[in-house]
Amino acid sequence: YLEMNHVKKTFGELEVLKDISLSVHKGEVVSVIGPSGSGKSTLLRCATMLEKMDGGDLSFLGEKAAWEENGKCVYANKKQLKEIRKNFGLVFQNFNLFPHYTVMKNIIDAPVCVDDVSKEEAKERAWKLLKQLGLSDKADAYPYQLSGGQQQRVSIARALALQPKVLFFDEPTSALDPELTGEVLRVIRQLADEHMTMVIVTHEMQFAKELSDRVIFMEKGLVCQEGTPEEVFGNPNARVKEFIGRVM
Ligand code: ATP
Ligand code: MG
Repeated sequence: YLEMNHVKKTFGELEVLKDISLSVHKGEVVSVIGPSGSGKSTLLRCATMLEKMDGGDLSFLGEKAAWEENGKCVYANKKQLKEIRKNFGLVFQNFNLFPHYTVMKNIIDAPVCVDDVSKEEAKERAWKLLKQLGLSDKADAYPYQLSGGQQQRVSIARALALQPKVLFFDEPTSALDPELTGEVLRVIRQLADEHMTMVIVTHEMQFAKELSDRVIFMEKGLVCQEGTPEEVFGNPNARVKEFIGRVM
């Protein structure tokens, strides 16, 4: 489904991703865990093409977005990239809602303006999502009138409104207090039950353990351990053990 191989990314002198491969199958939930600065966000940004890789390749459903040629990473043309990117949704730590738009406008804006969906259709989709995420009464509210957990659920609704095939989360709950964390994790769990394909960067170890089909532990731009939650949490290598011991 999604394939990334031997991805490299440097910022100046700093090798942030040294050699990372990630493949995600349809319907799978993959959690990416690891210490701060290990390159998790950079990996998500490369996967969703917000950031250009310096090496390696990236493809979705066999369509190549980027590949290596003469030791350099080349990208497909703009039109092809746009088509591939359409399949990806991204939810950030800090919600990133438009503050001057209502909840409804936040959700329908991209489908209408970018995806050429009719306003009626977009609104219909939005109502369904709001209902599904327990936000039916918030359509006319502005982000500042909502709790952090509600804002994050709106940003999940906004990502889902574009009907992505893979949804990426970058620490979706780390800006929330524990009580609000629960309501966002419930929504993600609900999506997993519906077999949404997801890649989740998270510090919520218990959640990663319960929800993931596969867990990837990153350290210093490399995959340090990868496997099922049973393998990674049940039989962690020395480094992973130390990390889990500290955070769980
Ligand atoms: P955290 O858990 O704290 O979010 P992370 O694993 O997501 O960490 P990244 O954000 O991917 O880590 O950052 C990895 C390294 O790359 C860090 O040392 C960071 O300072 C550096 N870095 C990230 N983005 C840039 C950038 N745009 N320019 C320069 N350095 C960057
Ligand atoms: Mg990060």
